[in-house]
Amino acid sequence: QPELSGDFGTLMVWADAKRRLKVRTNAETPLDCRTAREFGAEGIGLCRTEHMFFEQSRITAVRQMILASDEAGRRAALAKLLPEQRSDFVEIFEVMAGLPCTIRLLDPPLHEFLPHEESEFAEVAAAAGLDVETLKRRAAELHEFNPMLGHRGCRLGVTYPEIYEIQARAIFEAAIEVAEKTGAAPVPEVMIPLVATKRELELMKAVVDAAAEAVFADKGRRIEYLVGTMIELPRAALMAGQIAEVGAFFSFGTNDLTQTTLGVSRDDAARFLTTYVEKGIYPKDPFVSLDVEGVGELIAIAAERGRATRPDIKLGICGEHGGDPASIAFCEATGLDYVSASPYRVPIARLAAAQAALKSQ
Ligand code: PEP
Ligand code: MG
Repeated sequence: QPELSGDFGTLMVWADAKRRLKVRTNAETPLDCRTAREFGAEGIGLCRTEHMFFEQSRITAVRQMILASDEAGRRAALAKLLPEQRSDFVEIFEVMAGLPCTIRLLDPPLHEFLPHEESEFAEVAAAAGLDVETLKRRAAELHEFNPMLGHRGCRLGVTYPEIYEIQARAIFEAAIEVAEKTGAAPVPEVMIPLVATKRELELMKAVVDAAAEAVFADKGRRIEYLVGTMIELPRAALMAGQIAEVGAFFSFGTNDLTQTTLGVSRDDAARFLTTYVEKGIYPKDPFVSLDVEGVGELIAIAAERGRATRPDIKLGICGEHGGDPASIAFCEATGLDYVSASPYRVPIARLAAAQAALKSQ
C-alpha cells in the first residue's frame, strides 16, 4: 500500500500503532478508491451504487427502468445496465485488492431519477419504444410529496426485486472475474439500505442469495460474501436484535438517522440549525457531529441489541459523522469495528481513532 510520506507519514504510522478502530472509505469510483488507499483506507465502508447510475451514458437506461410499467420493461432496461455495473465493480475490486468492500444496493430518491426536460422524455421514449405521453403519465404517478421518506432504499427493492437481483448479479460476476484474474478473491459485503423491519431484510437477502447461487452455478466457482444492512432509521436501531438474526453486519447511516431522529430534513437544516447552535439548543450541528444524547443513544442500543443476537456482528458507521473526530471518539467508546469516511478525511479519521483509543485506555 502506498504510504503518505514525510513527517505526516510518520505521524500516521504512530497513529496506526495505537488505534483499534479500522478506517474505511466512502467511494464509488476507481479514482476515489485509489486516493483513499493512498491515504490508508482499509476497505470500502460505503459504495453508493446510485451515484454510478447518474452517469450521462446510463441515465437514460436508469430512467427507462424507473418509468417502466412492468417487470419486463424494467428487465429490458436493467439488461443494458448490467455490463456497465459489472465493469464498475471489477475496477473497484481490483483497486481494493482483497480488502472488504461494502456495496450498497440502489437507494435513489426517485425524484432525482425522473426526467424533467422535454428532451429527456424524448430520449427515454426512444430507448423504451414508448410514447412521451405515456412516460409523462407514469412520471406523474411516481411523483412523491416527500421523496426522502418515500419510495427509496429497500422499499424500491421490495416492490421491484429485479433491480436488486441484477445489481447482486453484477457484484458476484465481477468478484469471480477479479478472483480468477488476480488470485485475490474480493469479499463483497452487500448492504441493504433504509431497512426498518427484519422482514424487509429477509426478503432482500433472499434475492441476493438467489442471485449469488445463480452466478456460482453459472461460473462453477463460489466466493465468500456477507449480507448486511444500514441502520439509519430509529425503528431499525430499536429492532436491531431481530434484524441481526438476518444481517451479518450493521452500518450506521447517521445522515438519515439524524434526519429521522430529529425530524429535521438533512437538505434544509441549514436554514435554522445555525441559530439553534448559537442558542445552545444543540451543542454542535448534529449533521456534522453526532448528537450523542439522541442519535448516539440509538446507535448504542442497536450495537448492544445486535451483539446480543449475533456476538460477532460487524459494526461500522458510514454517515458523514464517520470522518468527524468527536464522533469517532463516540464510535471508539461504543466499540464499533470501523468508521468510514470520504477519501480526503481518511487520514484525519486514522488520527482521531488513535486519539480516541489513547483516551479510553
Ligand atoms: C446515511 O444516511 O448516513 C448514509 C450514509 O446514506 P446516504 O447519505 O447515502 O443516505
Ligand atoms: Mg442514508
